Amino acid sequence: MKISEILKDNKVTVSFEVFPPKQWDKIESTKAVVREMSGASPAFMSVTYGAAGTRSGFTTEIANEIKNSGVTPLSHLTCLTSTRDKIHEVVGELRDNNIENILALRGDIPEGFVFPDKQYFEYAYQLINEIKAMGDFCIGAACYPEIHPESKSRIEDIEHLKYKVDCGASFLTSQMFFDNEKFLNFYEMCRIKGIDVPIIAGIMPITNAVQIKRSIELSNCSVPKKFFRIMERFGDNPESMKQAGIVYATEQIIDLMANGVNNIHIYTMNKPDVASAIMNGLSHIINE
Ligand code: FAD
Repeated sequence: MKISEILKDNKVTVSFEVFPPKQWDKIESTKAVVREMSGASPAFMSVTYGAAGTRSGFTTEIANEIKNSGVTPLSHLTCLTSTRDKIHEVVGELRDNNIENILALRGDIPEGFVFPDKQYFEYAYQLINEIKAMGDFCIGAACYPEIHPESKSRIEDIEHLKYKVDCGASFLTSQMFFDNEKFLNFYEMCRIKGIDVPIIAGIMPITNAVQIKRSIELSNCSVPKKFFRIMERFGDNPESMKQAGIVYATEQIIDLMANGVNNIHIYTMNKPDVASAIMNGLSHIINE
């Protein structure tokens, strides 16, 4: 099923994300994670793509497992370090496997990376155009409530985002954030600027102290004082921190929904217990 269909009518949706293993011999355990997570009935499940595209087959394999578990898959695809031929190969593989949803991404710029002359893709909008020309895919794109780190301004970032939508992105998934006000302001600005596709809020449950440092480094997102106090109080006790992280994420989702944001994507980090705990905390809300 196309994700644009799932998101239409502004129904409440909660989706999950998994990442493929780094080595092939771990593929079966990742598939087991997918099967377990599918039991919590997410609206769809996305699978990330290795930065350099070297393990693209792993992403397709996991997307297939999502499909076989009865959940709609969304396959991520990055383009920056791939040739046009490689993109054609991967998109063709997805098409052959009846995977019809692709999150079209540029990918982060590796340190010391120089754009080769023959490089075809510099930005995600070019990948969107390429995928669109290759078949009847439902294409999504990434967005950044606290501005993409390379952008000079919010205005510029939103103009580039609007262009991705104009090229054919039919939904957007946001970078993680911990302060709902940041997302709500961004959401409003997108609407003012004419971005009218569903904008899915990306929520990362922080369930251990190491994860928060890494998440902030990667995402450039701000962390409210309330969250730091939770870290200070519970960071040294793994079980308490996990519980607090689940509750924080659940509260964030409830507050977003109370503000009219009905589409949530949880960065579940291959943790079925965390995914289920959040879903349990939302059981009546999801089925309202
Ligand atoms: P783009 O939309 O191309 O934007 C990149 C930068 O270029 C922005 O600053 C933008 O404002 C600017 N820009 C865009 N268009 C133009 C233009 N026409 N002219 C000038 N500047 C322009 N990475 C992975 O490696 N694998 C994944 O699976 C993955 N999944 C992700 C999922 C989500 C929901 C998000 C938010 C990010 C994900 N990433 C992933 C990270 C992503 O690849 C990086 O954030 C990357 O730096 C930007 O990707 P993009 O698709 O947003 O790029």
